[in-house]
Amino acid sequence: MLTTNWRELLLTTLLRLFQRLRLERLFHVDWLVNPTGATYRFTDYFKGLEKVEAVKQIFGEKTIEVLQNLKVKFTYIGGYMWIDPRDGSLVVSTRYLNEGDKTGIYLDLVHELVHIRQLMEGKKLFPAEYDYVDRPTEIEAYQHAVHEARRLGLNDQQICEYLKTEWMSNEDLRKLAKSLDVKCT
Ligand SMILES: [Zn+2]
Repeated sequence: MLTTNWRELLLTTLLRLFQRLRLERLFHVDWLVNPTGATYRFTDYFKGLEKVEAVKQIFGEKTIEVLQNLKVKFTYIGGYMWIDPRDGSLVVSTRYLNEGDKTGIYLDLVHELVHIRQLMEGKKLFPAEYDYVDRPTEIEAYQHAVHEARRLGLNDQQICEYLKTEWMSNEDLRKLAKSLDVKCT
């Protein structure tokens, strides 16, 4: 087991707190997330996704157009990746990109691209009336990721590991897994 350093511990605590207080908005404080404010073309960093069936299922005939117009921002703060709903860009932790599990990163991309479509449909990504694991927008995004995970050959236990994040309680994980019909033991 890796030693948790103070920075990781702090970020984990913050993530948990933000989640509990539903303050996702805090992630969008620009100076904190992305000091340079630089945005990049998604397709310059994530190549070939337009050929992926799971992605084509999200956007249909608009797949190429959507991916070409998608912007990405990189952040040094922790976490994984999420959507900035103000400009519809994808925000990615460089650390996660460099050190994260590649399959997990790929499944997260599928998940986040579902949120991109939801934004295009005018849906609210952070409806205050729901907890994270109960949000219809999250369940839909996870359904796509889980479907793709199964196609890749991951079993339920592996998918369960994928769903588990440090800011999700065991109860939340069980709830989410149940909604997704994934058996976590
Ligand atoms: Zn999500």
